[in-house]
Amino acid sequence: MVASSFGGFARLCEALEATSSRNMKVTLLSKYLSELPPEDSRIAAYLLLGLPPGFRGRRPLSVGWSTISEALNTKPTSTLIQEPLTLQDLWSTLKALASLQGSGSRSRRVAVLQSLFQRCSREELEWVLRILSGEMRHGVNHGLLLESVAEMLGAELEYVRRMDMLVSDIGELVRMAVAGELGQVELRLFNPVRPMLAEVCDSVEDAISIHGGSTSLEPKYDGVRVQIHMNGPEVRVYTRRLTDITARVPDIIELVRGTVAAGSAVLDGEVVAVDESGRALPFQETMRRVGRRRDVLEVVEKLPLRLWIFDALYIDGEVLIDRPYEERRRRLESIVRQEVLAPRVLTGDPRVAEEFLRRVVDEGHEGVLAKDPKSTYSPGRRGSRWLKLKPAETLDVVIVAAEWGHGRRRGWLSNYHLAVLDEETKNFMVVGKTFKGLTDEEFQHMTERLLSIKTDEAGWGVTVRPEVVVEVAYNEIQKSPHYESGLALRFARIVRIRSDKSPQEVDTLQRLRTLYQRQLEKKGRPLDSEDLA
Ligand code: AMP
Repeated sequence: MVASSFGGFARLCEALEATSSRNMKVTLLSKYLSELPPEDSRIAAYLLLGLPPGFRGRRPLSVGWSTISEALNTKPTSTLIQEPLTLQDLWSTLKALASLQGSGSRSRRVAVLQSLFQRCSREELEWVLRILSGEMRHGVNHGLLLESVAEMLGAELEYVRRMDMLVSDIGELVRMAVAGELGQVELRLFNPVRPMLAEVCDSVEDAISIHGGSTSLEPKYDGVRVQIHMNGPEVRVYTRRLTDITARVPDIIELVRGTVAAGSAVLDGEVVAVDESGRALPFQETMRRVGRRRDVLEVVEKLPLRLWIFDALYIDGEVLIDRPYEERRRRLESIVRQEVLAPRVLTGDPRVAEEFLRRVVDEGHEGVLAKDPKSTYSPGRRGSRWLKLKPAETLDVVIVAAEWGHGRRRGWLSNYHLAVLDEETKNFMVVGKTFKGLTDEEFQHMTERLLSIKTDEAGWGVTVRPEVVVEVAYNEIQKSPHYESGLALRFARIVRIRSDKSPQEVDTLQRLRTLYQRQLEKKGRPLDSEDLA
């Protein structure tokens, strides 16, 4: 069949590269894919994105440029006229290359590549080389491929995106679309889907209002996200990147068998390594436990895991992802035992929510997740239907200067320069400013107080003896080229005037540096460090 020749694919790639029009690319792709047999369309989809076989299992092709150039420079061994290369030929060759690993495999890889190159025309060779390097440079990405599928089917892009999340395999998605099978896509047992994700939110008040007056709060566990598929005694566990980690968590498999009362189910949760008292250990410990592939039983006892289940996507033959969260949660509660069920509170009262947040943090968790009770489960999506909230951090700082206010605050000293103590030099170092958090009355008092301890005066305001200690909340510590301290508090606001504290008791620059470092480590955690592949 002509359409399945690799030559056809190479011509498509050239045409894609030649146009910068997105619409044109979509048209070219949808026409090309629609003319392929389904199985070939699957391969074409992977190749278009430069995805080698086995990419889901993270087995890199690992064909270095030196191997490629050796194959290119070796004289052909046979001059037989060969059949033109097909997509399937190329795919099986790439598979063979991926399986040739280890010592002594280099010469075999050179030989495989050489016979592959011999079969290529000059144009084809160009695109084979781009596939091998994983850099296609024709401007087709995952999103564009989904648009092309939508155009090919005459369907809404939103529909195709949703199917993509359910199928979680772009090649398989394209194959099903071409075969006209997309309508049959459903959540299937032992076919994991990407988990729903959360967006950041600053306060419980915001979460309650975004969720229309009431929200469901749960602890935010700092462990590894798991999707559990079970059918009778068969239980499998997948990470958020869909890696199957069943063999690494035999204790969780047992636990699920003993605590979930359903014939079949797909459940969403998190596992966290805990100490003897059951308290959550840092994320790295969970990774050490779940990342272990060999001698698993050794670590099972040393580093026990706790399982928290918070959602149900499927129970006994019924797909639940289009049901509201409240209903899914009720269904979940009817099949899982309390000991593995994530605790939660449904509330519209910010004080109740705040109290829950404080309790959860005292128990050693990072914060909470606020979930919209009406929301459906959107695989792979990050949106405001799930919000993550952390308690604001606070520090004690001392006021070392203040600026005269403007507008409504005219006549008051209102923008305070906040400083921490440098333990080494014993100097106070400015780390931010704020005019937020005080009532009008407090501003008035503060102005009088600061004027009484001023050491210098200028048009903009006063410098003062470091005496007034305030507790400030902030969202983040940033590097600052501006302050001599090198650090700045983002969105600082005063939460309390600490008349009970002396300036010598404020937080230190050294502590701030540690907090900054810790913040970096959290942020710098590779996005999918949980992937464990
Ligand atoms: P992030 O990775 O920063 O988007 O945060 C969302 C992550 O929090 C998810 O991937 C989960 O692994 C994790 N998580 C912890 N607790 C919960 C919970 N109760 N509900 C949903 N996700 C949770």
